[in-house]
Amino acid sequence: MKVLFLDIDGVLNSTRTCVAFGGFPMQLDHIAAFDQVAIRLLQRVCDNTGAKVVLSSAWRLHCNFADAGRAFGLPIIDRTDNGMGPRGSQIQRWLDARDDIEAYAIIDDDSDMLPQQLASFVKTNAEDGVTWSSFKALCRILGADPYEGQPRNRNWQQGGQQLDWSDQ
Ligand SMILES: [Mg+2]
Repeated sequence: MKVLFLDIDGVLNSTRTCVAFGGFPMQLDHIAAFDQVAIRLLQRVCDNTGAKVVLSSAWRLHCNFADAGRAFGLPIIDRTDNGMGPRGSQIQRWLDARDDIEAYAIIDDDSDMLPQQLASFVKTNAEDGVTWSSFKALCRILGADPYEGQPRNRNWQQGGQQLDWSDQ
């Protein structure tokens, strides 16, 4: 199994989305305040590599990981524990409890990973969240061509939909 350990703040939201959307999302149903491109790029990573997602974000403490999976359209199968220590230690305990991990990647805007995890670690910048470079790095670690595959839907090509600015 391939696994992606997912942080949320500074990854699926950022200073960029906060300024653009007028605030940080505080709960899963604030889905429009998350970075839609970031979500789609992570969906693409999972679709192209078969990777499953484990929630390592502090969001795991106040929302159910399966609900997060539904909100983001990601195959979130578990979360890391509540144990003490750096996030890298929480991730390592999850990995050490399994013997079927073919490859793993970690995406996070914090740096508290363990030395042996650094080759699997993609650090984002909290101002920008997931970038094209982050996506390419995840694809490299998990074994996919970033230009391969298709997004889940391309309905913008059908036209006929207009953005709604009527609250202005
Ligand atoms: Mg974070």
